[in-house]
Formats: sequence, C-alpha cells, structure tokens
Amino acid sequence: MAQYTPMIEQYLSVKSQHKDAFLFFRLGDFYELFFDDALQAAKELEITLTQRDGGEEKIPMCGVPYHSAESYIKTLIDKGYKVAICEQVEDPQAAKGVVKREVVQIVTPGTVMEGKMLDEAENNFISSITPTDNGYVIAYADLSTGESFISQLEAPIKDVISELYNRPIKEIVLPEAFPEDDKALLAAYLNVTLSFEEETTIPDTFTYLVDGLESKDLIQGFGRLFQYIHHSQKRFLSHLQPVEYVALEQYMKLDLYSKRNLELMESIRDQSQKGTLLSVLDRTSTAMGARRLKKWIDNPLLSKTAIDKRHNQVGTLIDFFFEREELRDQLKLVYDLERLAGRVSYGNVNARDLLQLKQSLAAIPAIKETLNQFDDSLISDLLGDISVYSTIYQLLEDSIHDDPPIVITEGGIIKDGYDAQLDEYRESSRNGRQWVAQLEASEREATGVKSLKVGYNKVFGYYIEVTKANLHAIDDDRYERKQTLANAERFITPELKEKEKLILEAKDKSMALEYDLFLAIREEMKQYIPRLQQLAEQISEIDVLVSFAFISEEYNYVKPTMNHDQSLAVYGARHPVVEQVMRDEFVPNDFELEQGTDILLITGPNMAGKSTYMRQLGLIAIMAQIGCFVPVNEADLPIFDQIFTRIGAADDLVSGQSTFMVEMLEAQNAVSHATPNSLILFDEIGRGTSTYDGMALAQSIVEYLHDYVGAKTLFATHYHELTTLEDNLDHLRNVHVEVDEQDGEVVFLHHIKRGKADKSYGVHVAKLADLPDEIIDRANYLLQTFESTQTIKDDLVQEQQLTLFDESKEQSTPQQLEVSKEINDLNLMEMTPMDAMNTLYTL
Ligand code: ADP
Repeated sequence: MAQYTPMIEQYLSVKSQHKDAFLFFRLGDFYELFFDDALQAAKELEITLTQRDGGEEKIPMCGVPYHSAESYIKTLIDKGYKVAICEQVEDPQAAKGVVKREVVQIVTPGTVMEGKMLDEAENNFISSITPTDNGYVIAYADLSTGESFISQLEAPIKDVISELYNRPIKEIVLPEAFPEDDKALLAAYLNVTLSFEEETTIPDTFTYLVDGLESKDLIQGFGRLFQYIHHSQKRFLSHLQPVEYVALEQYMKLDLYSKRNLELMESIRDQSQKGTLLSVLDRTSTAMGARRLKKWIDNPLLSKTAIDKRHNQVGTLIDFFFEREELRDQLKLVYDLERLAGRVSYGNVNARDLLQLKQSLAAIPAIKETLNQFDDSLISDLLGDISVYSTIYQLLEDSIHDDPPIVITEGGIIKDGYDAQLDEYRESSRNGRQWVAQLEASEREATGVKSLKVGYNKVFGYYIEVTKANLHAIDDDRYERKQTLANAERFITPELKEKEKLILEAKDKSMALEYDLFLAIREEMKQYIPRLQQLAEQISEIDVLVSFAFISEEYNYVKPTMNHDQSLAVYGARHPVVEQVMRDEFVPNDFELEQGTDILLITGPNMAGKSTYMRQLGLIAIMAQIGCFVPVNEADLPIFDQIFTRIGAADDLVSGQSTFMVEMLEAQNAVSHATPNSLILFDEIGRGTSTYDGMALAQSIVEYLHDYVGAKTLFATHYHELTTLEDNLDHLRNVHVEVDEQDGEVVFLHHIKRGKADKSYGVHVAKLADLPDEIIDRANYLLQTFESTQTIKDDLVQEQQLTLFDESKEQSTPQQLEVSKEINDLNLMEMTPMDAMNTLYTL
C-alpha cells in the first residue's frame, strides 16, 4: 500500500465521508482537488491537470483560486454534481502538524443559495419523496426563499412524476431503499440529481415547522428533507417557513403529458419558453411575481369563489387604467424580498443587499396608497397593515451607508451618527489625518525646503520625503531616517509616529466595530423575516394580478363566467399563443357543449386547424382557472377538475417509447382517471398504427368515453367513417373544419361548423407542400380508383401496412399466433409504462 503524506491522508479521510461530491480542499488561496476528482473536474471545468507529490507516488491534482471558486462551483452544480467545501478550521500559524480541516458546506443543485447561481425568475426546489403504505409523501422547499410545501399522493410513481413535472425541482432526496426502477424513472423524466437521507426526525426546536401537519407520514416526509438540508448546509436555517400542506384535490390536475402537450411553460420543440402560455401571460414586474405566476399556471384553482375573486380583482385592475399603470411602475422598484430575507437568515447578506431591502421597503407606502385609490377592498386588501415595514426601513435608513461596499469587513458600511463609539473613532482618525495633511506645509516652513513631501505607503506608513540635495536643511534631532531611495531620503518624526498610531488604531477599531454593528443589524433583521416573507407573497400576488390585467386589456381578453353545471359555451375563441403570431388572420371559433353533450367529434383535412381548435380550449380553461381573462368574445365555462390530452406526435424520447405506445399510455391515463368534470382532448388517436386497428381503437375509445366516462371531450380524427357514430351516440356531436374548394384548389377557412366533413383533402395538402406534379396526379388517380372500388382499397391497405392484430391465421406461424394471443390478453388499461416496456421487451 502506498504511503501518503499526512495532508493527503487527511484528504482521503474527509473524501471517504463525501464520496458523491467533488471535494474542494482548501490549501492556502486555492481549493485543490485530487485523484479521480481531479481527473474529472479538470475535464468538466476545462482547467489544467497537474500532479503533486503525495508521498511515494505522484497524484493527480487540479485547483481553482478560492476567490473565483463560485463560478467553478456553479458550473459543476449546473451539471447536476455536488461540491463539498472543505476549509481550514484553525489558524495555520497556530497549528501543530497538518492544519485541521472540515467540510463546512455541501453545495448541491437543490440547495444553492448564492445569488449568481440562481435564476431569479425561477424557484430552486429541493424535494423529498417518501413512500407510505398506500402512496407517497412529497415535500419540497426553496432554500433561497424559505418556502416549503408538502403533499400526499395515493398513486403509482407515475403520478408523482406528473405532479413534479414542470416544477423547477433540481434535486430529489430519497430513502436508500427506494426501488431502482423508480429511481431511474425519476431521473429520466425529471432530469434531477438524486440524493439520499435516512434520518427523518425533526429536532424539538424546529417542530414549529410541522405544527400544521396531521399525520406521522407527513412529518417524516418533511423530516427527511429537513435533515438532508441540515446535513448538507451544516447549519439550521431560521428562514424556513412552516411547511404548507398542499391539498392536491384543491387544484386542477394535469398529467405529465398534458403539461407537455399544452406547452404551458416549456415548448415541446426546444424546451424554451418561446411559444408557451407563460410567455404570453408573463408581464410581471418583479422576480417574485414571475415565480408566483409559474406556480399559478401549475395549480389552476377549483374553487369557484377563489376563481371569481381573482377575475373580479383583474376586472378592477383593468377598469382603473392610470392607477394600474402607476402600480406597475411602483412594483418595478421592489427587489427580490423573498431571496433577500433568505440571505438574512442564511447569514450571507451584505450591506448592498440591505440597501436593496431598504429601497424596496421605501416603495411600499406608495404602493399601499395606489391600491387604496382603486376604491375596491378586493384590491386595497392585497396589502395589509404596513406599519412594521417603516420600522424596518428606519433601522436600515439610520444605519446603512447609502453607497456601501460589498465586503463587510473593511468598513464604510455604517452611517455617521448611528453609534457614538464609532463616531469617536472616526473623529480621532479624521483629526489625525487632518494633522498629517497640514504637516507638509508646516514642515516646509520650518525647514525652508519647498520640495519636502509628506506621503504614505503600506509598508512604512507615513513619512516625510526630502531630496538628497536638500538634506543639509534637516534637523537630525527631530527627523529619524526610515528609508533611503535613489535620490531622496524618507524620515519620520516622533509626533508623526504617534499620530500614525492613533490613525491606524482608530481605523482598526472602527472597522472591527463596524463589522460587529453590521452583524448586530443583521441579527436584528432576523426577527422580521416572517413579515418580509409575507410582504413578498403579497407583492408577488399583486404583481401577477396586474400582469393579468395588463395582458387582458392589451389582447382583448374578457372575463369568463364559471359554472358547476357541466355546460360549456364559448364564442369567438382564439388560441392565445397562435393569435399572437397571426394577428388579424386568426379565425375565432365557438365551442358549444351544453349539459348532456359530452363529445365533439371533429373531422376535417390535415392542416385545417383541428388541433389548434382543441388546444385553445385547454388553454382557455387553464387561463380561466388561474384567474386570468380569456381570449374569447364570451365564455361560460365549467370548472374542470382535470385535463387530459393526446395531441401531437411527440415520441417519448426519454423513456424510448414509440409514438403509438405513448398514444396508448396517454389514452389509458385519460379513460381511467377522467370524471364527468374533466376535459379530454384527443387528437388523431390511432394514427400510429395501421388504418384498421387505428380506426377500431379510435371508435372503441369514443364509445367507452361516451358510455362510461362522460367527460367533456374533443375528439379529432381523420377517420370519416367515425362520423356515423352520431346516429347512435346521444351525447356525441359532429363538427368539422370548413374548407373551400375553388378550381381544384383547397382554401382552409379554419372555421368550425356543425356536421361532418364530406371528404379528406390529404392530396391537396400534399400539393400545397409542393410535392412534384407526378406524385399529385398519380395520387389523385389512385384516390378516384379507391373511392370507386372499396375492395381494392381494403387490399391495398392490408398489403402495405403492417398490422398489430393480424387475424389471418393461415399465413401466421404458430409462434406468431402465440405472440398475438399474448398481446390480445394484455390488459393495457391496468399496465404501468414500465410494465408495458418490459412486456414489449420480453415479446
Ligand atoms: P390540423 O390539426 O387540422 O392538422 P392545425 O391545428 O395544426 O391543423 O393547424 C394548421 C395550421 O393552420 C396552423 O399552423 C395555423 O397556422 C393555422 N390555423 C389553425 N387554426 C387557425 C385559425 N383558427 N385561424 C387561422 N389559422 C389557423
């Protein structure tokens, strides 16, 4: 075994406790990494890999300067890694042998606190998942803002993924015994770092965090998160707010697929915000507002009272144009109170942060006044009693300098007049400096040397400088030689020495005192953290409502009415995102699904606007239930408990499932969970397989929805054969997208009308896409032939497309028959995605 130096031995012992993190090992002005950490970090950080004498052998090493470590740490955290910071915890001069070192903090993707590492418009959540007897407890917290939440799910892991999907969760803490398959699914779908924590108890002094929680499961679920945070941060965080129980049944449920398909916050194409509902709705003025808006989009309301209240608030904000615009301007003066409060608690707040806090508080009285001008308690009550904020403001106004440095140890932070002792030190330092300032003049006069200078440098302190030519004029009794230069000598006098001592002492003392005073102010601020968090919440709510009012006016949205009658009447509806791109050309459409009508079967050629029509209803429902006005002329909407979608042909790249499998999974999820109060949007179900089984599946799904589910359903299909269903299914109605045909050219009117479409226009679309004339002509010819001879059509389809359920037994081998039987026997509705994948693999 290799013998290492004592320092490397120390390194190895610390590293053995932190195997899953890069260990940043402090050596003087650097953090060094060794062994495998060094090899990997050199690659990830693109820094030079060197070697170090480690005893008998050389060991790989790389390092980063400690003062610029933050950006390197950020790079690693962004890539999902963790970093353990190991500091020297005793004075190297005083140390006997190797300096003592300890890990003082583990920075992880879910626990970063430093401003530069956070996206200001986004929460940074860390979550824990704890299995219970019949489901899961999920807790999540944002350390930078102090918020924490907890919910309970009685469901398979897939529902946990749906719940957490779209949330800015960076890390999930699990018990070690969490099933491997489920770990893999979490990591794949949510793209998070997984961490582990076994301890779940809450220390006595922190039980106030879980006071509101009723079951032991919930407390333990939060305990796991709390202990992980405690173990990684190595300190207890006083700004964590009591955990808020989120009863999931209070909010509209959106599964993973719907969140993705409706492009609420992330576009399907490139995961950016472009083209999303969020991008249309976000005109917030503060970072807090931007974060709150995302939470609202993620949690549409179910309570009619709560929804109506938001609509009324938005209405008032629209009515009072000038006051609202004033409010928008005033909100822009408010900094991120939530994160500032977090930094106060964490102990990394600096004087500039406190200045921002003060400036934010200064804006509050004017905001309160503007709110009062709306003459509506729904608006004026948005901010409660604000008197405490002037107390905090005054404390900061009296103490913190108006232009303080970032560093908190070098003075210049505390205002004159705040502390008598500090004023005294400053006074004596000022006096001393004044004395020095006039020394040059008096010494020139005393010696008659016009070029005599008084100066200061760091090494020698104050000095009097006389050029060699003038040395004869110096009185050696008073002047004491200090430093010799090429053509001058530097001196001091006993008096100058004494003043210098006074000045330096005063400076040291005042710097130390300023530091102490600053810490005391910071400590005093801690008691106000809950109030600042409350203020942050109120401001963010105002901000989102003002943003809703602003866009509602800008884009002519109107206030919807909400009902519990399962009846839906929407006139002149537009797609909020598409209309932005198309402007005046967007054709508004109606939706009528009165009580008793559940299904609209939508037919019409490709590119006619079917999926735009369906998506716009989903988005309108969500907009209404988060409290925003909607892009319609008039709308009476039922309150939907859930929205299910099957739109678009996005393969599930993450889990490697085929388009068809995803289609079936989405359908399975909808038919098994939808209620009569749900909205289902199904676009081209069955497209991913051959015509016949596609059509068969589509029809049987429609029938099932009709007979057993009763949810409001928009079902778009290119199978015209399905339009005959209207004759037998009472709750189903045909609509189609109107198309105009002029001289063989198709014009899409994008207008939805009652009744079924008369034919498919696939060939015309192909023509629009400029396919060669030969192809178009041949296709037209074939089409005519198919339409006149049904049998040829059947043969052709059979021949060309591979069917999953091939019943022509004569041609099948026994093996094929067996597989076919196995597939037929599967109960798809009961299978999890994992089951399905495993079965497929086995087959
Ligand atoms: P389909 O689902 O029928 O294939 P889409 O909904 O994808 O058709 O719409 C095709 C294109 O037609 C869209 O990209 C959009 O530009 C345009 N479109 C759809 N609906 C409308 C509308 N109501 N008004 C104007 N243009 C529309």
